[in-house]
Amino acid sequence: MIERRSVDALIVGGGPAGLAAAVGLWNNGIHDILIVEREKHLGGILRQCIHDGFGLTQFGMTLSGPEYARKYIDDVVRMGIPFITNTTVLSVSPSRIVTVASPDGMIRYEAKAVILTMGCRERTRGALAIPGERPTGVFTAGVAQAYINLYNRMPAREVIILGSGDIGMIMARRLTLEGAHVQAVFEVMPYPAGLPRNVEQCLNDYNIPLYLSHTATKIHGSDRLTGVTISEVDADLKPIPGTEKEYSCDTLILSVGLIPENELSLEAGVKLDPRTRGAYVDEHYMTNIDGIFAAGNVLHVHDLVDYVSLEAERLAAYAASYIKDGSLPPCPLPVACGENVGHVLPQRISGTSNVQISLRVRQPLQNCRIVVMQDDREVFTRRMRKAIPAEMIQLNIPASKLSSQGGLTVMAVCENE
Ligand SMILES: Cc1cc2nc3c(=O)[nH]c(=O)nc-3n(C[C@H](O)[C@H](O)[C@H](O)COP(=O)(O)OP(=O)(O)OC[C@H]3O[C@@H](n4cnc5c(N)ncnc54)[C@H](O)[C@@H]3O)c2cc1C
Repeated sequence: MIERRSVDALIVGGGPAGLAAAVGLWNNGIHDILIVEREKHLGGILRQCIHDGFGLTQFGMTLSGPEYARKYIDDVVRMGIPFITNTTVLSVSPSRIVTVASPDGMIRYEAKAVILTMGCRERTRGALAIPGERPTGVFTAGVAQAYINLYNRMPAREVIILGSGDIGMIMARRLTLEGAHVQAVFEVMPYPAGLPRNVEQCLNDYNIPLYLSHTATKIHGSDRLTGVTISEVDADLKPIPGTEKEYSCDTLILSVGLIPENELSLEAGVKLDPRTRGAYVDEHYMTNIDGIFAAGNVLHVHDLVDYVSLEAERLAAYAASYIKDGSLPPCPLPVACGENVGHVLPQRISGTSNVQISLRVRQPLQNCRIVVMQDDREVFTRRMRKAIPAEMIQLNIPASKLSSQGGLTVMAVCENE
C-alpha cells in the first residue's frame, strides 16, 4: 500500500531553481511546500562548480558554486521549508499526483501545484555518433568535473576537448591547474559556443588554442583512449576529406551541449518546444497542464545561474497566486521567433501585464536591433552592438506597450540589411 499525502507545492529538484522557487513561495505566503531532491544534498549541479563567477547579478559579488547554493540553502533551513534528499520523483501525473521513491519507501503526493526544476543533462558521445573504438577515457565535461571536484580523482593526463561550451572551457582550465596537458579545444561551429569571458579566462590566459570549424571524426584505442582524429568542417558542418589530423591523448572531454531533463514532464502531458527542448510556458511559467510550472535549466538552458534564480523567484510569485486563487489570468497570445532568433520564452502571454521575454540569437550579429512586433506594430526595440548565441538576452516589456489582441514576433534585425 503506497502512503498518500497532500501538499500545496511540490518542487521536483533541489538545485538553484528549486531552492529559489521554494524561498519565493515562502515569501509569498505559501508555507506547505516540499522540495524533493534525488542526490544526497541540496544545491544541484552547483555543488561541483567550485570555480568563482557566480552571484554577480544576484548578490553583487563573485561566489563559487557551493557558496552561491549555500545562500539559498541557508534561507530554506532558516525558514523551515521541508525538503527530502536521496529521494527520486518517479512520475508526475496530469492531475498533479507525484510518486516518489524515498529511503522510507514509495510515497504519493497530491499537490495543488507542481514546480518542475530538474535541470539538464549533458549530451554524450552517443548523441554525436563519433565513429571509432569504444575505449575508456571519453567523458563529458561535467563528469570530469565531478571526478575532480567531488571525488578527488584525476581522470586525465593528455587531453583534447571537443566543443567550446562553458563547462568544457572551465574544465580546460581546471585540468591544466591540476597538472594535465590540454592540447586544444575544437569547436564545430565557426564561433565559440560559450561565453567570451570563459574564452579569455579559461583558454587564452592558459595558452590553450581554440580551433573553430573542426570536429572529431574518429576515436582510437582499445582499453584506454590513445588518440582522436580531428577534421576541418565545411559551411554545412561536414568534415572536409583530406584535412584529418590525429592527436595522441588519453582523454577526450565533450562539451557539446545540454539537454533539459524532461522525461517526467512528458509523462505528465507537458508539451515541449523543439527550439528550447523545455516546456511551452505562459508568462506565469505555467505549462499547458494546469498547475504544473517549470523554471531553470529544465525550461531552457541558461548561461548564468543568477538568471535561473531570478526566473524561479518570478515563477514562485505566480505559483503562489495560483495556489491561493486556483487559477491565473489567461495567456492566449502566442510569442513567435522571427528573423535571426533561435528561441523565445515565454511562448504565450496575456498582453495585459508586464512581461519579461528571454531569447537567444541564432548566430553572432553585429550592430543589430532586437525588435518585438505585435501584429504590425513595433512595441519594443533595443540596439545591440553585438549579440551572440552564448548570451541570453532579456527584455522587459511594460503592459502599457502591449494590447490584449495579436501575437508577438521577436526578431533581430541587422542595421546593414
Ligand atoms: C556540469 C555543469 C557545470 C556548470 N557550470 C556553471 C558555471 O560554471 N557557471 C554558471 O553560471 N553556470 C554553470 N552551469 C549552469 C548552472 O549550474 C545552471 O544554470 C544551474 O545549476 C541550473 O539550475 P537548475 O536548478 O535549473 O538545475 P540543476 O542545478 O541541474 O538542479 C536540478 C536538480 O534536480 C534534481 N533532480 C532531477 N531530476 C530529479 C528527480 N526525478 N527527482 C528528484 N530530483 C531530481 C537533480 O539531482 C538536481 O539537483 C553548469 C551546469 C552544468 C550542467
